[in-house]
Amino acid sequence: MFVNDQRKTILVRYGEIGLKGKNRSSFESALIRNMRSALEGVQGLKILREHGRIYVQYDDSTEKVAEKLSRVFGIVSLSPVITSRPDIEDIKRKALEGALKAGCRSGVSFKVETRRADKRFSITSPEVSRLAGGFILENIPGLTVDVHNPQVVVHVEIRAHDVFVYSTSIPGPGGLPVGVTGRGALMLSGGIDSPVAGWLAMKRGIKLVGVHFYSFPFTSERSKEKVLDLSKVLASYGGKFPVYVVPFTEIQKQIKVKCPESLYVTIMRRMMFRITEAICAKENCSSIFTGENLAQVASQTIESIAVIEEVVSLPILRPVITMDKTEIIEVAKRIGTYDISIRPYEDCCTIFVPKNPATKPKLRDAEAAEELMGNYQDLLEQAVENSEIYGV
Ligand code: ATP
Ligand code: MG
Repeated sequence: MFVNDQRKTILVRYGEIGLKGKNRSSFESALIRNMRSALEGVQGLKILREHGRIYVQYDDSTEKVAEKLSRVFGIVSLSPVITSRPDIEDIKRKALEGALKAGCRSGVSFKVETRRADKRFSITSPEVSRLAGGFILENIPGLTVDVHNPQVVVHVEIRAHDVFVYSTSIPGPGGLPVGVTGRGALMLSGGIDSPVAGWLAMKRGIKLVGVHFYSFPFTSERSKEKVLDLSKVLASYGGKFPVYVVPFTEIQKQIKVKCPESLYVTIMRRMMFRITEAICAKENCSSIFTGENLAQVASQTIESIAVIEEVVSLPILRPVITMDKTEIIEVAKRIGTYDISIRPYEDCCTIFVPKNPATKPKLRDAEAAEELMGNYQDLLEQAVENSEIYGV
């Protein structure tokens, strides 16, 4: 099936233990759809599904294709493979080619490991390993065999019509294909935490819609750019998504003029959630994600969270709530958002921090403060209406 095709091939392993029946097939079709969009523009692309495996064929650079695939959620690992006919002479030649590619040379140790998924192939796995290994040794002077702790393992996998030779396994991000668990709004600041929360949401299959509150001129054009750059990094994993940049200055001004200072943050965050829920209705999102982290700041005590989340009825999910800052930073570095997040532009919260924020606000005090704002509903509607929507 593959050997007569001149294209290069990558073997993709996927799967979440425990997925069954209908869930399994929607997982597979979503995964293939997402792989296709991640590989848009790749020359000669062909994606095949067979026996719980996916094969990607292409005429492009392997590094480029592997790099793009290693960001697609649902993929556990991938291996660039050399294909061979189920014929021992061809297997030996391809195993040698694979060994050379993997760095086998004088002074290096290796072994061949064979798996026979199709038992109709008449030579046993240990025998294939012995024959292919012997052929490699004959052709690479100074190479040694080490069956316990080799530097290179040449894998030979024998299937009904094809044999695959590979020696590297590149990890994928795991998780579920983006889209299978629905759409969710991510409240995205320019900080370290919310992009990580968004990445973790995507990892569990959520298709994001970004929501950023923007307080021009108190926050600069640069801080908006930063959020869009963060969104682009997230999109490199989960595919393109819309980002709402919500003008928030007027609402903040009204809060500052009309509400008691100790409740600024509480009221501001209640307004943010109300607006986010309105965007969810427009965008067909059934959940809200934030980068909130327990007890990091005044608004993140359990008492604050209770008073703030009371304004919305959609589930609010906080993937980093229990993580230590160092753990969040570790993920941020790994996924490529950290360097953007630490750019020094202020966000709309830092310019708006009261001297003594309430750490245990009371719901009735928050409601009384909002009464003082009069008809804020119009302000919220205008904010949604005047949002700029970017496709990243
Ligand atoms: P982050 O590192 O994500 O900025 P933080 O530790 O600074 O979070 P807060 O400022 O209290 O904490 O914000 C908590 C969460 O509220 C953020 O993670 C984000 O989800 C949301 N949020 C805060 N500011 C904004 C904003 N300007 N636009 C959109 N969402 C915001
Ligand atoms: Mg922040």
